[in-house]
Amino acid sequence: MNAVATPEPAAVEIVALTKRYAPGTPAAVDRIDLRIASGSYCCLLGPSGCGKSTTLRMIAGHESVTSGDILLDNRNITNLPAAARGTAMMFQSFALFPHLSATDNVAFSLKMKGVGKAERHRRANDLLARVAMGHLAARKPGELSGGQQQRVALARALITEPRVLLLDEPLSALDPFLRIQMRAELRRWQKELGLTFVHVTHSQEEAMALADTMVVMNHGVIEQVGSPHAVYNHPASEFVARFMGGHNVFDTPAGPIAVRNDHMRIAAATDAATAAGLPATVTDVEYQGTYVLLGLALDAVAPGRQNVSVLLGEAAFLSRPYAQGEAVRLSWAEADARVLGPGARPPGERVPAPVDANALRDDTAALALTL
Ligand code: ADP
Ligand code: MG
Repeated sequence: MNAVATPEPAAVEIVALTKRYAPGTPAAVDRIDLRIASGSYCCLLGPSGCGKSTTLRMIAGHESVTSGDILLDNRNITNLPAAARGTAMMFQSFALFPHLSATDNVAFSLKMKGVGKAERHRRANDLLARVAMGHLAARKPGELSGGQQQRVALARALITEPRVLLLDEPLSALDPFLRIQMRAELRRWQKELGLTFVHVTHSQEEAMALADTMVVMNHGVIEQVGSPHAVYNHPASEFVARFMGGHNVFDTPAGPIAVRNDHMRIAAATDAATAAGLPATVTDVEYQGTYVLLGLALDAVAPGRQNVSVLLGEAAFLSRPYAQGEAVRLSWAEADARVLGPGARPPGERVPAPVDANALRDDTAALALTL
């Protein structure tokens, strides 16, 4: 399979890395530590402004480091120029030169380095063949589909034989259908090439689909590192639980807990056996095909507190449909409750008000809410 020589993939190590764009302003990236395994697909995930791109640009050498170190394969690259690091950045497909053929786009950086035409075309066409674009090498970007352009962009990034490929929101300009198709391709190329990919995205779904390791960032710090499964099943903090979605957060005397919305139990308020649950009212019923998503408001919750959701399998819902406005009781098995750590909330940020206790019942252990 590896007809073209692939350089050994490298592990990236980040030590106490900090970026402050201006003195006296909050750090955009604040003393983060991270180790990215060789040959893995790593996604930096978090809301806009949390420091993902700054982190990636510092790895690429496109942004200076305020303090800390970046190592590639145990080699300190913190102060090396971008071209000497062994990293390459893959840009969105629209960054291709429209007037150049796929071959010339891919060969562009070799031309800048003074590599002769025959040699650079040979290497560019080798790479294009590798991403299944050999037969379209003579075409210009405007004559290629979005997916094909994306592959040319990938080949163009690979021409420098990087050890680590850096991708900043590479799929965000694509329509939803193509985005899903291209993310499967990225994943396949990463496995096939055996390279380390570091991919920035604000999409939880994209990160879950792609990553071996997800790095969840917030306010310039790392909230959690782990496999998609670990992060989704054991969110470390309220921020992670809320950002990943699919979780409800409740305050209890032991601190906040998260419960996956497909692990919630729901029963009619009139059902005596479950009268102990949290009283709530169904506010929305959303049919999603395989699942039905119920939106609910806890009867005792102060305004502004995030609502609760329950995800039911279609069959479960059809066997006992709940209607908008219906009074219900919510509960969960203790084993499904995840105790949340404080996370990395910056000082002074508003902490959500605890559940208004007076109207809640305390007659089940699993619902030991703040009273
Ligand atoms: P993300 O990629 O997660 O959306 P960024 O790394 O782009 O976040 O930005 C992190 C923080 O740094 C934000 O507060 C942003 O406004 C700030 N920032 C980013 N780039 C610059 C810059 N060139 N100059 C000053 N501030 C910047
Ligand atoms: Mg960004």
